[in-house]
Amino acid sequence: MSSLQAITFDLDDTLWDNQGVMLKTEEGHYRWLLEELATWREIREEPPLALNYEQGVVDYLQRRRRWAQQVPERRGDFTWLRLRALEEQLETEGLSRSTALLWAAAAMNEFHRLRVQVKPHPEAAGLLANLAGRYQLAAITNGNIHLKRQPLAAYFPVAIAAGELLAPKPDPKPFLAALERLNVAPDRAMHVGDSWQEDVLPAQQLGMHAVWVADQGDQALPTRVHRIAHVKELPSLLEWIEKRT
Ligand SMILES: [Mg+2]
Repeated sequence: MSSLQAITFDLDDTLWDNQGVMLKTEEGHYRWLLEELATWREIREEPPLALNYEQGVVDYLQRRRRWAQQVPERRGDFTWLRLRALEEQLETEGLSRSTALLWAAAAMNEFHRLRVQVKPHPEAAGLLANLAGRYQLAAITNGNIHLKRQPLAAYFPVAIAAGELLAPKPDPKPFLAALERLNVAPDRAMHVGDSWQEDVLPAQQLGMHAVWVADQGDQALPTRVHRIAHVKELPSLLEWIEKRT
């Protein structure tokens, strides 16, 4: 009889490598905005904006940081921060409020289109399909990937976007929200993630089992915490855990 009933997954850098996609998305949506906006103004015979990529992208980042400081409860809601920063930047450049809002929203649409172009590890879909037969599965992410648009969405009947809860991990709220929706006690659930601070510690402190996906790390592991180098090692770890319980 299995003691584990549910497994919750972090997504970025756990089920796929995130970094390359994030860099392309970061640059791509902002270049898209400047190019599309330039064409749009040209057609309307409006003068080009003074904004260029190099200065604009630095200013955009500074505005995001300012918004996160000014509205700290939104600090984990990256989509919100980006929207506010872009709207503000475009208004500062002389666009009307309504035009600034439209273009900021369009840029964020492009952001999400690029952002979902992550390639899950080749083993991930098969792994989740197998686990779904034995455990309830959930995703808990701080990332602002659109959960319904991400490639493995079908395997996660429960998906928690922690930033939108205004409580990014390591806040325990997204973990508690997942456990409540799964209707599972913490000690019957396991969280799998790559971040020691944001995944392993909060899960362990709630009494969940935790699997740290890290190819290096020799620190002593607290009780109920295991380390694997890659998520593809999860099935053999689970087999080992289930035999001991
Ligand atoms: Mg992660």
